Amino acid sequence: MHDNTIRMSRPPMYGVTTLGPGCRTGIWFQGCGHACPGCMSPDTWDPIAGEDWSIEALADAIVDAPGTTDGLTVSGGEPFDQPLQLEALLRAVRERTGDAYDILAYTGYRIGAVRRRAPGVLPLLDALIDGRFKQELVEPQMPWRGSANQLLHRLTPLADKRYGDADSPRRHPAPQAAVQVGPNGSVRVTITGVFRPGDQEGFQQALGEHDLGTDTEGEDR
Ligand code: SF4
Repeated sequence: MHDNTIRMSRPPMYGVTTLGPGCRTGIWFQGCGHACPGCMSPDTWDPIAGEDWSIEALADAIVDAPGTTDGLTVSGGEPFDQPLQLEALLRAVRERTGDAYDILAYTGYRIGAVRRRAPGVLPLLDALIDGRFKQELVEPQMPWRGSANQLLHRLTPLADKRYGDADSPRRHPAPQAAVQVGPNGSVRVTITGVFRPGDQEGFQQALGEHDLGTDTEGEDR
């Protein structure tokens, strides 16, 4: 992989309403070594799987979202295991978007480790959700986080405005399913969001009854 390419799990997804405030574009990095028990996206662990994207093409695809988009959610996998590529991508996105566009990133590292691994990335973010997913601390009342150890860091005034009530207990937005029909008529269902207890089983049972396979792309860490 070259410095101007990023290993991604899949193409960007538009219209994501479950991972951050408003209507967002979601991207999922490929590769994660945290191996959290109960991870809802183990298909993102293998750093060799997924697909290479050039940074410029990915930035174009992110901002090419149809309709109005409030921001970008960067997830994975572990985005901070490709720190230089992540920084270059966010710079390219910032060049293409206005002041009202916010960027949220998820990571299994703590914010101190993020500062050491990727000192150039934090100034490009509005918000960071840090910490590995811990099954024993599953928290259905904290929006956008899977377990109570995960902290939401507001890094800009825009984040203070948009994420200001993120620590007020309330339920997660319900997970969201997107259906994509391939050129050969194949159907792929992708579920995004933070699963509450029982959500994953319920989704998979319902889709299995219709003979549909699923990808789960979200955040439970
Ligand atoms: S929950 Fe997140 S940090 Fe943990 S293994 Fe899964 S992708 Fe990695």
